[in-house]
Amino acid sequence: MFGWTGVFLRINLSKKKAVAESYDASLALNFIGGRGFAAKILWDQLEPGTDPLSPENKLIFAAGPLTGLGLPNSGKLVVAAKSPLTGGYGDGNIGTNAALHMRKAGFDAVIIEGKAKTPVILHIENKVTEFLDAQDFWGLSTFETEARLRRSNERNAGFVSIGPGGENLVKFATVISQEGRAGGRPGMGAVMGSKNLKAVVFQGSEDPPTAYPKELNDLSAEGYREILTKPNYAFWKQQGTMSTVEWSQENSVLPTCNFSEAVFEEAQKIGGFAMERIKVSNRGCPSCNMTCGNVVIDSEKKEAELDYENVVMLGSNIGLGNIEQVATLNRIADELGLDAISLGNVLGFALETSQNNRIPEKLHWGKFHEVKALIEDIAYRRGLGDVLADGVQAAAAKIGHGSADWAMHVKGLEISAYDCHAAPAMALSYSTSSIGAHHKDAWIIGWEVKEGRGSYGENKVDKLIELQRVRGGILEYLTLCRFPLAQLGLEIEWYSKVLFAATGTELTWNALNYIADRVLTIIRAFWIREYNREWTKEMDIPPLRWFKEPLTKGPMKGSILDPARFDIMLQNYYKKRGWDQRGVPKKATLNKLGISNVAKELRKYVSLS
Ligand code: SF4
Repeated sequence: MFGWTGVFLRINLSKKKAVAESYDASLALNFIGGRGFAAKILWDQLEPGTDPLSPENKLIFAAGPLTGLGLPNSGKLVVAAKSPLTGGYGDGNIGTNAALHMRKAGFDAVIIEGKAKTPVILHIENKVTEFLDAQDFWGLSTFETEARLRRSNERNAGFVSIGPGGENLVKFATVISQEGRAGGRPGMGAVMGSKNLKAVVFQGSEDPPTAYPKELNDLSAEGYREILTKPNYAFWKQQGTMSTVEWSQENSVLPTCNFSEAVFEEAQKIGGFAMERIKVSNRGCPSCNMTCGNVVIDSEKKEAELDYENVVMLGSNIGLGNIEQVATLNRIADELGLDAISLGNVLGFALETSQNNRIPEKLHWGKFHEVKALIEDIAYRRGLGDVLADGVQAAAAKIGHGSADWAMHVKGLEISAYDCHAAPAMALSYSTSSIGAHHKDAWIIGWEVKEGRGSYGENKVDKLIELQRVRGGILEYLTLCRFPLAQLGLEIEWYSKVLFAATGTELTWNALNYIADRVLTIIRAFWIREYNREWTKEMDIPPLRWFKEPLTKGPMKGSILDPARFDIMLQNYYKKRGWDQRGVPKKATLNKLGISNVAKELRKYVSLS
C-alpha cells in the first residue's frame, strides 16, 4: 500500500506486550484512517456494555494516510475510546508531533488495552515499545510531564500526556500535547488514567511510503503558498479564532452565564482585540503555517494559549470579563488536563445552581478566585468538585431539586461555545454530532446567521449534512485541520489531488462523502448498541432551556426554539440520513453504505426497519 503503513500496534498494558499487526487494504479503502479506523475498531472489537473506565476499554490513537507527509495542516491524530462521560462513542483530534512520529514509527494506529499495575509511560521508538516506570511522574501537570520527558528524549519527539484530571478520572479529562494542544473532550484523558498510562512518547524515523513523492511535494508547496495568498491570512495570524468573540456578540450567540443569555456586557474585554494587547506569539500544530494558538501572558505572568471556545466558556459563560484572568483559568485547565469547554459548562452550572440556592456552596458570577479554587477541587475530586467532575448530566442527577434545567449538554457531552436560543440549525448540529454536543462536526452557525435565523427549513438540514460529511467525516478520517478549507477557502480539489499523490488511489469528492456517511453511520450504530433498548429520539434533543426560557437581552431578545418545528427538522434529518423515526439507521441504509454486517449485529439490540 502507498500512503498507509498497513500496520497497527496493539499494546496490552496488563501483560506489558506490544504486537505489530498488519491489516487488510480493504479496511484502509473503506475507512481511510483517524475517526474511520477508531470507529471501526471500537465497533468490531469492543464488547458492548464495557465499562469505559475498565481495563477492557480500548484507547486508540489513529492517524490518516496524509499524516507525517509534511502537507499543510496535517499534523494531527484522533484519540478515541468508549466515553466515560457519555457512555457512547468518544473521540477528539490533537495537533501534535506525536501524530507525525507515530506514522514515522511505522503505525497508522495504536490500540491500547488492559491496565498497568502501576503508572507507566509508553515509549514507542520505531519498532520498539518500552514500558517505563512513571511513578515519579504521577501527580505532575501535563506541562511538567512533557518538559521532563523532553529532557530525556529528542526535542522534537512526539508526546501526549494526562494531568491530575485524567489521573483522578475526571470524566471530561483530555489528552494534552505541546502545552495547549488538547484532544478527546469526552474523557479520553480519564480512559488513559484508568489504564495507569501517564504519557506516550513517539519517535519514528521513516517516512510513510507514497505513490508519487515528487507530485506530493509540489502539491504540498502549492498548498502552503495558496494559504499565504488568501486575503484573510494576515488577520487570521493576528487573532486566529478569537475574532469570533465579537462576531458572536454581534449576532447574539455568545454563551453568557451558563447559556441563559447570548450577549455579554463585557464581551469586548475578552474579545480578539483585547487578546491582542497581551499576545506575545503564535503557537500551533506541526506542519502548519496558519498557527492559530494565541500565546498570551496571563494574570499570573505565565504563558497561556487562547482560542475562541476556551475563552468564551471560561469567560462570558461564567460571567468573567477579564482576559488575563480568563487566560489563567485556561492555562490551569491545560496543566490539569481538563477540557475547557466542558469545564466552562460545569462551572456555569455550579454558579447557577448556587445562585438558586440548590447547593450549600456560595458561588458568584465572574469571581476569579472562587472559580480557580473550584477548578482545582474538580481535578482533585474534592467536595463539590467531586460531584462536578462527573460532568453536568451526572452532577444534576446527584444534586436534584430541578438543577437538570441548568445542565447544558446533549447525550452527556457539554455544549460548545454557541448559544442556540435563536439558531435551530446549530442546535440540530449539536444534537446529531457524533460525540454529543460538539461544534466541530458541523459549524453551521456562520452560514445560518447569513441564511436567516427563524427558519427550520429543509435547506438547513441539507447544509448540515453537507458540513457533517466534510468536517465530521472527511477531515476527521484524514485527520486534517478544518481551518484552511473553512476559514481561508482552500479549494477542495486540492484534497483529492494530494490523496491521490499519496495513496495512488483515485478517490473523488463523492467517494469521500460516501465513506464519510459510512463512518458517521457506524458511530451512530455504536451509540445505539451501547444504549440498547433505552435509545429513543430524545437522545437527539438539545437542552430544554433553549425551548423554555427566551433571551431577555440583545438583538435577538425574546427568541426561543420551537419544539414542534425542531421535531419536524429532526425527522427530516433522519429521513435524509436513511434513519427511522427513532434515529436508528434502516437496514437498506446500512446495506447501501456497504456495512450490512452492522445490521446483523444491531438487530440484536433494536428492531430494524
Ligand atoms: S490552523 Fe490551528 S488548529 Fe489548524 S493545524 Fe494550524 S495550528 Fe492547528
